[in-house]
Amino acid sequence: MIDRYLPALDEFALTVDEQNAVAAALTTLDPWGWSPGGAQSKAIASVKAKILSYHLQRHGHKCCYCRVNLYGGGAFMTDREHVLPKSIAGYRPWSYTMWNLGIACKRCNMEYKGSNTDFVVDPDDEAQLMESEGYRFIHPNFDLYREHMSRSSQEANESVIVKYTIVPGSLKGEYTYNYFNLRGLEVNSFDRAQGLQASESLGEAAVETRSLAEFFGQ
Ligand SMILES: [Zn+2]
Repeated sequence: MIDRYLPALDEFALTVDEQNAVAAALTTLDPWGWSPGGAQSKAIASVKAKILSYHLQRHGHKCCYCRVNLYGGGAFMTDREHVLPKSIAGYRPWSYTMWNLGIACKRCNMEYKGSNTDFVVDPDDEAQLMESEGYRFIHPNFDLYREHMSRSSQEANESVIVKYTIVPGSLKGEYTYNYFNLRGLEVNSFDRAQGLQASESLGEAAVETRSLAEFFGQ
């Protein structure tokens, strides 16, 4: 793979104790949830903390799918994200593999992604799972987000207006925008800014894309 972010994944380092704990976890049926107690559980907790910190750095403390700012958000906002879900047996060997990990907000991870795998182009092509071509959405490690989409926001007092711009021709940008209902975030923010009730759950409510474009002067 070509690594598009820094610090580079292949520079991620674990201590010998941490490596041994991960190896032991991977022999179980639930590697990510494995908690034998004692020193090994401590080592696993340390690995998870390192993973969190490393991927936050790589993505500038932003969600890898919607780019919302996670800085200082802590566990209430932030999930360690398994791109190929750890709930699916065939993907469990990659529970601690850095290219399969990222950082996501709870909205993207829990409301939209969950244990779905419909974003995988060909689940049976293992080689393709290790490169950009294997994924319909913007992959947190194989794709450079800004080559597909950008998120801009304007803040004034209690209001935040959010706008996503898909790079023309980017199918991954378009797929990611739809998959994570990023339009819902735009509409939601726009309504809030106008003092209306958040309408994300209503989908096509309230506001036309044209209005957002006008707001941003585009
Ligand atoms: Zn997100």
